[in-house]
Amino acid sequence: MAGGRFVAELIARKGQDTFDIVVFGDEPYGNYNRILLSSVLAGSHEPKDILLNPIEWYQENGLTVHAGVRVEGIDRSRKLVLAAGAIQKHYDRLVLATGSRPFVPPIEGLTTASGGFLGGIFVFRTLEDALQILKHAANARKVVVIGAGLLGLEAARGLLNRNLELHVVELMPYPMAVQLDPAAGGVLRSELERMGIQFHLGRSITAVTGNGWIEGVQLSSGEVESCDMLVISAGIRPNIDIAKQAGLAVERAIVVGDDLACINDPSVHAIGECAQHRGQTYGLVAPGLEQAKVLADRLSRANPQAVYTGSNTSTTLKVMGVDLTVLGKKEPTEDDEQVLTYAAPGRGVHKKIILRDGRLTGAILLGDSGPVPHLLRAFHKNERLSENPAELLFTQRPSRPANDATQLDAFFSPFPEEEAPLKEVMAIIRPERWLKTKLKAESLGITAFTHHRVAGRGRQRGLQFLARRGATSGTGFRFLPKRMVSWIVAESQVETLVQAIMESNWTGQIGDGKIFVLPLDGMAKICSDDPGIETVETAENAFANA
Ligand SMILES: Cc1cc2nc3c(=O)[nH]c(=O)nc-3n(C[C@H](O)[C@H](O)[C@H](O)COP(=O)(O)OP(=O)(O)OC[C@H]3O[C@@H](n4cnc5c(N)ncnc54)[C@H](O)[C@@H]3O)c2cc1C
Repeated sequence: MAGGRFVAELIARKGQDTFDIVVFGDEPYGNYNRILLSSVLAGSHEPKDILLNPIEWYQENGLTVHAGVRVEGIDRSRKLVLAAGAIQKHYDRLVLATGSRPFVPPIEGLTTASGGFLGGIFVFRTLEDALQILKHAANARKVVVIGAGLLGLEAARGLLNRNLELHVVELMPYPMAVQLDPAAGGVLRSELERMGIQFHLGRSITAVTGNGWIEGVQLSSGEVESCDMLVISAGIRPNIDIAKQAGLAVERAIVVGDDLACINDPSVHAIGECAQHRGQTYGLVAPGLEQAKVLADRLSRANPQAVYTGSNTSTTLKVMGVDLTVLGKKEPTEDDEQVLTYAAPGRGVHKKIILRDGRLTGAILLGDSGPVPHLLRAFHKNERLSENPAELLFTQRPSRPANDATQLDAFFSPFPEEEAPLKEVMAIIRPERWLKTKLKAESLGITAFTHHRVAGRGRQRGLQFLARRGATSGTGFRFLPKRMVSWIVAESQVETLVQAIMESNWTGQIGDGKIFVLPLDGMAKICSDDPGIETVETAENAFANA
């Protein structure tokens, strides 16, 4: 993804006028949105929906693409890339964006004599992996997933949608132990168990049984769990072999400076998960995209002085039915940090924020997405939070008039994107339809939204917004949980978006959801480079601030 974004950023800066751009990728597709592979497993996306830049896009922009061609070596003395099929290409600048591969723990019986996995065993990294998992899942009954990290849980939840019995084996005592504290991990576990996932925590898998095809797994506790499918999601390792062989400086990953050049070869660069910057490697997409932009600025000479100084990371679990966002660290590490927590485990809620000098250094927001946009913005902009800190945990964004741009979604680094006239498309939907709706809109490239919980009165009729959770009717009406979502889009996108909302929410009942299209006259949309982050302002202000 970092490589694909880099090329797109370079083209946007007319980089093809300076360079002949040649792209190698050992997957046979163009650039696709890897983070949506979980949605492909869950069935909310088709593979075609997740393509970002198909091969034709590269060709239309005059690039040479070697899709499905693996680079096997680099000859730095002759500045040559050596690829499969005896392809050799000279380079002036080489950008390595080779990502990571799944880590496979040592487990007895995992492989056959020929070195491949036993039938029914998979890793989960590529579109091909997802397609193979789905093919096998169609005839499977019971799946074991190794790893209760972000990916393992997303894979498990996706496969639950395919009516399989789901077991997750995890060495740590609770899920997502890297991102969550034990209390939040406990709440997450209960929520996922309620959905049907069975956990085997504090255990590992020591052996796989089966003859040609998997039949079961042996746990470190001695138990044997029968299964006909195993998905390994036990972490990742950066793809650094070719860099190492070429003599580039490599530690955990390829070591680069703030200029994103290798520290021992200024003509070779590394971005994304294969790069190590200031001692840090990232396993998330956002840092790679930020690096791509900086490198494109430098190489195109749009801003030759641009530097990358590191990323603040945030993570959202994309599991249907669970709202979980984690920002920064999960525990305080300094004496002067302040920690505020609110927990309602019975309702699946656990919220915690860590502040230092009025600024957010960490947050866990589980079971209530209300405060997320505000905190996300404050975190990424390193804003000082002036409110009473306790109130930050309960910020509920009120419904806003269409022309009030004060409630902004997330942070942005402003640059104007001319899309006027704009419209606000607002939909009232059932909570269980939210993820599907969101993903469907994202597949259309419409990523930014605001949403909050509301309640509908009666059976989909006479919708009433409620200011406070738990309000009762006192009139005999039923209050139904709902979400109010709004997207700001160009007028030309309205019809497609409305169609997508209707498709994602159709339950056979007329009037199940309400969709409003509101004018945003005189407003301009401002996007950051991060997908999903944008805001609206009066056109005048937008250009003044840009
Ligand atoms: C199912 C899933 C869900 C995820 N969800 C999230 C999420 O919600 N949020 C988030 O931030 N991150 C998420 N991630 C992680 C995110 O996808 C990665 O951080 C991101 O893709 C890293 O980008 P990259 O360009 O460094 O590597 P990649 O996207 O892996 O791209 C590297 C490419 O280089 C190719 N390559 C490697 N070696 C060679 C070679 N020698 N020759 C030619 N080509 C080569 C690889 O085949 C691959 O296509 C998820 C990952 C997965 C698998």
